[in-house]
Amino acid sequence: MRIVLLGPPGAGKGTQAVMLAENKSVPHISTGDIFRAAVASGSELGKQASSYMDSGKLVPDDLVIGLVKERLVEPDCSDGFLLDGFPRTVDQAQALTALFQELGMENIRVVELVVPDEVLIDRIKKRGESGSGRSDDSVEVARLRLKEYYEKTAPVSSYYKTEGALIEIDGLGTIEEVHDRVVQALN
Ligand code: AMP
Repeated sequence: MRIVLLGPPGAGKGTQAVMLAENKSVPHISTGDIFRAAVASGSELGKQASSYMDSGKLVPDDLVIGLVKERLVEPDCSDGFLLDGFPRTVDQAQALTALFQELGMENIRVVELVVPDEVLIDRIKKRGESGSGRSDDSVEVARLRLKEYYEKTAPVSSYYKTEGALIEIDGLGTIEEVHDRVVQALN
């Protein structure tokens, strides 16, 4: 199964992505994880990405799109995958549609975790207070991430809605409840 998982920062997308990828036995491809690994290894990609990440901004499209293209042609993606954190802009979404066509990949399921704004802001504050150890996790940076989300990523949902491909899932409730909803919607 080919899945694209969308959702704002603070929606629990990362956790749901890991569980869903396991449930569907497909590789979990998180562009955020790829960038964090690149930063940790000190690679050129990491050097280019780190200043954007640390300030809560999106990494430029050309860097991300190239990286996803390279990843999706890996053999483990031939039967399916779960994309987490990509696409984050309409340009990325269009590039992905073109890539799917080029690779002859069909039946893409696009799932969005829907969480109200006030809940997201509350979760971000709590995350900031507890300090989860991510360098972009201060409350201020989290707010900037949310701003980037509304400006650049929210239109991605509209893009898939227009294509009639969007499955919206209520992201409120326990981790298990949300997971069950997503799995049911994909059955
Ligand atoms: P994430 O773990 O998905 O929240 O990603 C962490 C950070 O990596 C983001 O705040 C961005 O700086 C960067 N990033 C991850 N995925 C993308 C993407 N698709 N486009 C642009 N930047 C991204």
